[in-house]
Amino acid sequence: MPATNKAVFLDRDGVLNQEIGHYVWDPNQFVVLEGVPQSLAQLKQAGYYLIVVTNQAGIAKGLYTPLDVQACHAKLQAACGNLIDAFYFAPGHPSVSESLSRKPDSLMLEKGLARFHLDPAQCWMVGDRYRDMQAGHKVGVRSILVGEEETTEYQPRVADLSAAVQLILQAAHPAPTTTN
Ligand SMILES: [Mg+2]
Repeated sequence: MPATNKAVFLDRDGVLNQEIGHYVWDPNQFVVLEGVPQSLAQLKQAGYYLIVVTNQAGIAKGLYTPLDVQACHAKLQAACGNLIDAFYFAPGHPSVSESLSRKPDSLMLEKGLARFHLDPAQCWMVGDRYRDMQAGHKVGVRSILVGEEETTEYQPRVADLSAAVQLILQAAHPAPTTTN
């Protein structure tokens, strides 16, 4: 099957839900950011698969379990009408073991690319950390930085997911340019 589909890979904390300065594993502390359900619906309508790729090293550190992560993801799905097609999380941490899943490595994205027959050139990564950008670039996926979390100079950078979606939709259908 040729890889002709497209997706937006989404970092989780700071993009879809509030970054609270420590691991978010309790659904009661998992707050979906304003506008996120609408942004995801726009991407879906434009034909993108939606794939969450999130580092969850708190599992390796013994702070919480995969079941806690799944409970948060259930809350996210409920908030956005089950629009998300897949969730990948990287439970490892370098202090415990090596992992090719943990961003800036790209194994979570590679799984999504294979599973959904995606063309990397038509895909996007949206994250609030430079390591999200690195993971995207490793597999040839254009990557947009959002929010204020990261101090690194990087472009393209916009305020939030809603602004990233505008960028993605404009790139797919550029406004006509005036010729003379
Ligand atoms: Mg993040």
